[in-house]
Amino acid sequence: MSEIETVFPLKWNIDGVSVPVCTAFLIDCFGCPSPMGFKRVLIANRGEIALRILRTLRDMGIEAAIIHGREDRLSLPVQMADIAYPNYRANPLDSYLDIEAVVQAAKELECDAVHPGYGFLAENAAFVARLEEEGITFIGPASGVITLLGDKIEARAAMEAAGLPTAKGSSEPIASADVASALADEIGYPVIIKAAAGGGGIGMQIVGKADEFESALKLCQSRAKSAFGDERVFVEKYIQGAQHVEFQVLADGKNAIHFGERFCSIQRRHQKLVEEGPWLTDEKRAEIGELVCKGAESVGYKGLATFEFLRDANGDFYFLEVNPRVQVEHTVTELITGHNLVELGVRVAQGEALPLKQEDIKWRGHAIQCRLNAEDPREFVPSPGRLWECHFPSGFGIRCDTHAHPGYEMPGCFDSLLAKLLVWGRDREDAVRRMKTALDETMITGVEHLIPLHRRIMDEEDFNNGDITIQYIDMHQELLG
Ligand code: ADP
Repeated sequence: MSEIETVFPLKWNIDGVSVPVCTAFLIDCFGCPSPMGFKRVLIANRGEIALRILRTLRDMGIEAAIIHGREDRLSLPVQMADIAYPNYRANPLDSYLDIEAVVQAAKELECDAVHPGYGFLAENAAFVARLEEEGITFIGPASGVITLLGDKIEARAAMEAAGLPTAKGSSEPIASADVASALADEIGYPVIIKAAAGGGGIGMQIVGKADEFESALKLCQSRAKSAFGDERVFVEKYIQGAQHVEFQVLADGKNAIHFGERFCSIQRRHQKLVEEGPWLTDEKRAEIGELVCKGAESVGYKGLATFEFLRDANGDFYFLEVNPRVQVEHTVTELITGHNLVELGVRVAQGEALPLKQEDIKWRGHAIQCRLNAEDPREFVPSPGRLWECHFPSGFGIRCDTHAHPGYEMPGCFDSLLAKLLVWGRDREDAVRRMKTALDETMITGVEHLIPLHRRIMDEEDFNNGDITIQYIDMHQELLG
């Protein structure tokens, strides 16, 4: 008998479920079986995503607290938050990465929950476990689910068991070149060696023949060890001419729905530059959508998730990984479905059951997002500094998510994302035209940025024909000016 049952042994039957009288009383008091909403949420992030989350918390009548470093003390999300909690550190990253400091802030500020955004502690199972210990809600999945999905070997196995298609590969870590080459003989060259704990494309090695294994394996293991503290690697079939397609999912711990796909093949160093959607036929969307929902349900997923796939030239899908958090490009899906994904993520974290059914999700028109990073558009070297002038476009079908403003000092110690410029159009052609108009209207002086590159991409023939693979930037070096 649980503690609550000892104190309140009497049970009522509500909708066929036996609940202690004390809980039944609460349900009666608040009119619905969902727990009370959050009063105050701590945003454990910075930049555009901190502002994005803050706006939604405000829409929902939830107080927004934020923890921040010295570099961000004058930033928009810090100025706009209801409460700001300075956490100044010698290494600026520690302001956002120190688990105990963030937990302490959440406790001191009496926050009901923490929103991690993306990056920093968003996929850190130890952080989530600490919040669970303190009885503070993490807006995202449980620590055990993050641990499972953070291990690519485990995640591959779990999703394969749920019926998702995966590329042929090893189901266990590979430690020797002999084992690797025996496996490669079986699945066929080329293959790719990847870190089990991988992220950000770090350490991946493509192997075309057996004698390359010895050095490629060592390199991948040592990079994995220094980047993730875990040298386990595995081998997978290398998908030639692949496209990157990912599915947006929302789950409440029991059931999952999907919001369709985003196409994100235009990447530099395995990081996305342009994202758009929709990309697939209705039939394919329904087919893969059903699979990803099954995958999320099979691990008891709660919150927003993105299921990433490679799609080969035959149109076959191969599961890559699950990103257990809100993604930079969730905005594309918001424009074509009309649903506020951040709000939905907060609602399921509050304990609500999915407020939408799969049939409620409809797709309309086409959306494109260009990442306006403060980087030079040739080598992608970060370009920190003060924005002397900065004007972002608006108008019909345009959205710009940014924390930047004239006078903003773009720090060099964090990610270089300055703004996300999005457009919506009736169809892809309409959206591309609108993106050109929007890029022309954007003015940023003081730092280098990617607008010249995005302008060239919007004019490029293969892009306009949709003839795009993950090698797009490599194959179009002329775009780098
Ligand atoms: P990470 O978590 O490090 O970002 P992912 O597994 O998500 O790694 O892969 C990132 C990118 O690496 C993919 O978008 C793709 O460009 C490339 N990649 C990964 N696995 C394969 C594969 N099996 N075949 C071809 N390219 C791959």
